[in-house]
Amino acid sequence: MMDAPACVTDAAERARNAKVLAERLSDHVVVAGKLVRAISRASFPVENPASGEIIGSAPRCGAEDVAHAVAAASSAFPSWAAMPGRQRSAKLLEVASRLEAEAESIACLSSLETGNAIATQTRGEARTMVDIFRFFAGMANEAKGKTVPLTDRRFLFTKRVPLGVVGAIIPWNAPLMQTASKLGPALATGNTVVLKTAEQAPLAVMRIFEILQEALPPGVANLISGFGEEAGRPLTEHPAVRKVTFTGSSAVGAQIMHYAADKIVPVTAELGGKNPNIIMPDADLDLAVAGIVQGMRLFRQGQSCTAGARIFIHTAVYREVLGQVVSEFGKGRMGNPLDEATQIGSLISAEQLARVERYVAMARGTPGARIVIGGERPNDAVLRQGHFYLPTLIEGVPASSPVCRDEIFGPVATVTPWADFDSVIKEANDSRYGLAAVLWTRDLARAMDFIDRIEAGFVQVNQFSVAEAGIEYGGVKLSGIGRELSPESMVEHFTWPKTVIINYATPGL
Ligand code: ADP
Ligand code: MG
Repeated sequence: MMDAPACVTDAAERARNAKVLAERLSDHVVVAGKLVRAISRASFPVENPASGEIIGSAPRCGAEDVAHAVAAASSAFPSWAAMPGRQRSAKLLEVASRLEAEAESIACLSSLETGNAIATQTRGEARTMVDIFRFFAGMANEAKGKTVPLTDRRFLFTKRVPLGVVGAIIPWNAPLMQTASKLGPALATGNTVVLKTAEQAPLAVMRIFEILQEALPPGVANLISGFGEEAGRPLTEHPAVRKVTFTGSSAVGAQIMHYAADKIVPVTAELGGKNPNIIMPDADLDLAVAGIVQGMRLFRQGQSCTAGARIFIHTAVYREVLGQVVSEFGKGRMGNPLDEATQIGSLISAEQLARVERYVAMARGTPGARIVIGGERPNDAVLRQGHFYLPTLIEGVPASSPVCRDEIFGPVATVTPWADFDSVIKEANDSRYGLAAVLWTRDLARAMDFIDRIEAGFVQVNQFSVAEAGIEYGGVKLSGIGRELSPESMVEHFTWPKTVIINYATPGL
């Protein structure tokens, strides 16, 4: 069967093509080089969250499918690990090119199952995915060890050795990018992978894995789907899985570390955030306003761990900045994610929408709190069929409230005026999380002060961008452990060091 043509601009036609793909991929896994039916006959429906329509289904894998996929990855490992880095590099470059050729149809399918808009999110995410594969393809020969000077005619060096089968578990919010972030460094260094998708968004990643098989030896990259306890846990606990790389919630990240602890296997975890975005009175206010909107990840409905969900604006510019942000909110076009004109899509699920509504209701019930804008679903019959929610700003919520402390993972931010720099830094750091943090200022000394004092893994001044290939990315505290996307993190987290000493004082050597 032919896949959908790549270049169509009409939303209805895009949806039709993506549904054809969704139907073909339904109920499959990718194991040992092939798209095959899962062993488990149970499946779960995949919803288009923008319409409520069921567009396909995916296997509810359990321990048997995990074992099947891990066995395939285990048998592929020795020859993939032994392959010269430059050859692995060539294969990963081919992966990047093949994915690039299919980027538009992958993006459309991702929009269909996640509600993320093609124009503002999934198309760019597909480009980032290709870029990450290409970046790590270039790193495949860079897993270098070191030499250490020793006296007495001894030579010490280290080799970096691939770990074996890597278990990867990803969430639903940016599945294309997260797939590349896991596979790129793992495969470049000679590991093989079994990845489990999130139950809300399994299909676009399945298409990615199908394409990967065209360039990679069978068993190098395997894919299963299913729920956390049923599929994620046995994958994490499987004795042949020698490393776990996870992106998701902090609670599940902690559980995964527990599972891996029993077999002493390393875990990297990219977890939640509740990120401060601080506006100084001397900032370029136009840039800061744009940065507040971009920082809230409004074009991803706020469903990003780096979202700037706690906004602190200096009292001298508070009303002015807030007014401008509100007027920017008014310009965001919400609608069908596959429509080129749409900027803001739908939340992922009814569950996520209910979570957002719960926190907004909590804010409404808080004395002194005020919904500045939003705080409800759009008043439109078509949009009400999906899980849409208006961009929302809330002021007057005390810092101790769960609204300010918990990661809501929706288009909701709290705004707080501040006057004293020390106090605002203290408040910014008063969080269980430590992922992203941003300051807007022209005062270099203040910026350096902020950089020194802020507790966050990903700190930016005068911009609020997302991570990309080459940028070392990750958090502290409940936001995670380990780093992604940099060459150093590739070597550190996907290989182990073997220390070797050769004693060449040996007589006769
Ligand atoms: P959210 O529910 O906000 O999407 P989760 O952290 O629950 O975030 O999910 C992220 C990923 O982790 C998903 O692929 C999910 O299936 C998986 N997962 C959830 N619970 C577990 C678990 N106990 N063990 C392994 N994986 C899990
Ligand atoms: Mg969950």
